Amino acid sequence: MTAIRVRDLTKVYGEVRAVDGVDLDVADGEFVGVLGPNGAGKTTLLEVVEGLRRPDSGTVEVLGEQVWPRNAAVLPRIGVQLQASAFFERLTAREQIRTFAALYDVSPARADDWLERVGLGEKAASRVEDLSGGQAQRLSIACALVHDPDLVFLDEPTAALDPQARRNLWDLLRGIHEAGRTVVLTTHYMDEAEVLCQRVAVMDAGQILRVGTPADLIRDLGAPARNLEDVFLHLTGREYRA
Ligand code: ATP
Repeated sequence: MTAIRVRDLTKVYGEVRAVDGVDLDVADGEFVGVLGPNGAGKTTLLEVVEGLRRPDSGTVEVLGEQVWPRNAAVLPRIGVQLQASAFFERLTAREQIRTFAALYDVSPARADDWLERVGLGEKAASRVEDLSGGQAQRLSIACALVHDPDLVFLDEPTAALDPQARRNLWDLLRGIHEAGRTVVLTTHYMDEAEVLCQRVAVMDAGQILRVGTPADLIRDLGAPARNLEDVFLHLTGREYRA
């Protein structure tokens, strides 16, 4: 089954074509990365696919359903990672995830279990303001997963983390994927896309320039391409600057 089917999707803000004629398919159980520099349109694309923003034109199907107008049938089946700044203030990590769990009728015990699974058991009583960047990211991912969705969206989950925290989070994301979920993430880190994602959609100026496995994207360009930075240079004529 196709988890996501996007056709000729466009979202315009004034003069800016944030998403400009995008087609994208994600298969069930796939791990796909949307890779591009700041302002490429990754977040806007994700928000339209999640059903959080209205497209100007084009179609989006998620798990076989239209997402806009807002479709209540889709929401319990997808998990959307919050930016850490969107936590409820002054709650502990345990209270935070139990609150999310309650919204989906998930038991407190299962919520607590997720804290353990993302390695935050010892931080359960800490207020979210007191978590490190990596811990806050792991909490936000646990909140997105607490209702056991089929499809998970993560918007730059490792932004602003130190290298060790990024690698720990990569392990967590691999585990989520190996547990059978479809994962779509945005990133501006080339290395992250290359090591984590089965397929990568290279995005720039609202358009998806190429989609493929990292190895295929690199190989298809021939000998001069050694990595995704070379692929970006070839496709855009510009050096990659995240
Ligand atoms: P980043 O990596 O910096 O998050 P991105 O690839 O996610 O970038 P978007 O945030 O989707 O890119 O932005 C794409 C373009 O749309 C940018 O030019 C941005 O300035 C513009 N844009 C995004 N949101 C809005 C908005 N709400 N109103 C007007 N313009 C917007």
